[in-house]
This record gives sequence, C-alpha cells and structure tokens, in this order.
Amino acid sequence: MAGSHTVGCACGALELELQGEPFGVVECLCGDCRTAGALIESLPGAPPALDERSASRFVLYRKDRVACRKGGEHLRDHRLTPASPTRRLVATCCNSAMLLDFTKGHWVSLYAPRWPEAERPRAEMRIQTASLPDPSALPGDIPNHRGFGLGFAFRMLRAFAAMGFRNPGLPLGGAPIEIPTPPGAA
Ligand SMILES: [Zn+2]
Ligand SMILES: [Zn+2]
Repeated sequence: MAGSHTVGCACGALELELQGEPFGVVECLCGDCRTAGALIESLPGAPPALDERSASRFVLYRKDRVACRKGGEHLRDHRLTPASPTRRLVATCCNSAMLLDFTKGHWVSLYAPRWPEAERPRAEMRIQTASLPDPSALPGDIPNHRGFGLGFAFRMLRAFAAMGFRNPGLPLGGAPIEIPTPPGAA
C-alpha cells in the first residue's frame, strides 16, 4: 500500500492519518449533506464544508485505513436526528467538518476541504443530484448521477469484499453536538 496521508482540522489541533489512496472521490448533493454541511458551517469560525454549489466533496476511505494521530478529544458527533445511523464528526477546536460516518457501513467520507488545496483529491462523479431543485444546472465536467450510480456501488462493494465483508467500526468521535438552525435558514 503506497504511503499515507495526513489531513487536519483548520487549526491543526487534530490530525488524521489515512493509509494508502482513497477508493473513490465523489460530490454528494443529497439534502442531508447540504443541510448538515450548512449547519456545521454556521458554527463560529467554521471553515468551509461545502463548495459553491452546496456539494459535499467526499474522499472515501475504508474504516480500517483511518486513524487519529492527535487531537481526537476535539471530535464530537453531529446527527441530523438523534436516532440517525449517520453522524458527521466535527473538530470542535475550530469547528471543522472532518468526516461523515454511516455507522452501519464499512467506509468513511472525509470532507475534501480539509486537504491543502494543491493536494485536494478531485471528484470523479456527482451523486444524488436528483435532490437538487434543478439538477440540469450542474456542469458536465464529471458524470452526474441522479442516485448513487453503478460505478459508485461497485467500488463500495469491492472495498467491502477486500475487508472480508466486515465493518470494523470507527473508534473516533465523542458526545453529541447540537447545532441550532441559523436564523434565515430554510
Ligand atoms: Zn481544529
Ligand atoms: Zn449526501
């Protein structure tokens, strides 16, 4: 496996180590990602989570390839609803959106804005575009999938197979963080 990468929160107090290369890079346009990204960005001093189209660019890694090098105590769990199996980990030292963890899944989706711009992995496709008010407004530079797309599903499956179809869980995160809806938000 080729090398490792280190990504950090905006203030540098937290660092994650990623083994090898991601198995995919996608932009998610689903309503939950847009809502949660905007909420996390509304926290004081928060760096961007979303791009100018409200897309979450996610860098996908197997859970067993992600570890915390320092500052793990800053991580808190944000869930859109308390019972949701999906949590987004926020580095509360500087309110950086770090990653999305679908707790029932074998992968994590790391927020690409945490990479230095020159090293930031480029998205290969957009997914869940059907939840946009006007998906036709998206550029055609990369494939736009209304749902997940077959290529994405295949990569997920291949990564899961390589893990022996086991979800190791992600031993990161902390107490829940509540984020009030900012005034003026829908
Ligand atoms: Zn920080
Ligand atoms: Zn999404």
